[in-house]
Amino acid sequence: MSDDCIFCDIVAEKAPCYPVHETRYTRTFLDLFPAAPGHCLIVTRRHFDDIFSATPDAIGMVGHVSTLIAHAVREELQCDGVGIYQLNGAAAGQTVFHYHMHVIPRWNGEELDIHARSPGVPEELEAMAARLNKRAYSMRVDE
Ligand code: AMP
Ligand code: ZN
Repeated sequence: MSDDCIFCDIVAEKAPCYPVHETRYTRTFLDLFPAAPGHCLIVTRRHFDDIFSATPDAIGMVGHVSTLIAHAVREELQCDGVGIYQLNGAAAGQTVFHYHMHVIPRWNGEELDIHARSPGVPEELEAMAARLNKRAYSMRVDE
């Protein structure tokens, strides 16, 4: 737990989120500023600033969960592709310094801006989280 870390607050349920999936090691929830509808973030429960301080097992677990979430997103949204992105350091565009993975649905012909500037609409985020949550838990973990 790190002071002044919004993702630690979300993990500790001191800050709200639109939850999609949980493991003992990770929480997955919707990005509040979605680059596309269904943009998920997978965060470690334990605070690490970035890939350079995260442990190999934490990184492995995030990779494992990102595979599950990629399948869930593609199945549920029938998107053309899924981008998995992970930024380390301000120079790489990292803005929240708690290790996390982006899972972003992609559609043919649509431009990507990982850091979309407009916030999602609360009712739409809530409905999307419910859909992805249901889908993620309906899938086998090794799919
Ligand atoms: P990064 O730039 O890779 O550090 O990604 C951080 C992401 O966290 C950005 O896409 C933000 O839109 C997103 N974000 C920031 N605060 C919150 C929050 N409270 N809940 C959900 N997503 C957030
Ligand atoms: Zn943190």
